[in-house]
Amino acid sequence: MNIFQIVFHNYTSPSRTRKPDNKVAYPLDYRGELTHKTELCTLCGTCVYVCSPIAIEITREAERGVWDYDGGRCTYCGKCVEFCPTGALNFCDHSPSTITNRQQELIKDIVEYRSCTRCGAKIIPIPMETLVKLYHSEEAAQYASKIYELCERCRSRLHSQSIKSGISGVNG
Ligand code: SF4
Ligand code: SF4
Repeated sequence: MNIFQIVFHNYTSPSRTRKPDNKVAYPLDYRGELTHKTELCTLCGTCVYVCSPIAIEITREAERGVWDYDGGRCTYCGKCVEFCPTGALNFCDHSPSTITNRQQELIKDIVEYRSCTRCGAKIIPIPMETLVKLYHSEEAAQYASKIYELCERCRSRLHSQSIKSGISGVNG
């Protein structure tokens, strides 16, 4: 092959360099990208506590909560996924996205508060999906959800009332 043939071949053959958006197949033990389901997050703070590189931060504002994640700090150790009590965190099994700027590594999820069904205080109730896992039954979870729709103060009042009525034998 002479020099002209080499030059011609280089111009006409497809690129031999992998471009950033040509995804590669990931290995079997690859954990994937971290995903956060806001509807399951109770802002409990467990993920913040177990994350050594401080990749997660939580801010509780007056009207809503914010769950922040910095993919640039994450080491994909999996601790947050392992310890998240509601299953809000997971690793997804597709190839990682190509990051072209720092902003793409930063995720900011808004977690909406709900109101206590008795006093209206702002709360984040335990999600039904988590209650079903905890109580191993849809029926029991439905019953428990009524209690978890109350703030901590109203819940302890309800318990005190139940104990008092149990002792005195009078309902309500
Ligand atoms: S993602 Fe999970 S561990 Fe982190 S604050 Fe939300 S519920 Fe808690
Ligand atoms: S996978 Fe590890 S490093 Fe990444 S956010 Fe979770 S606990 Fe932090």
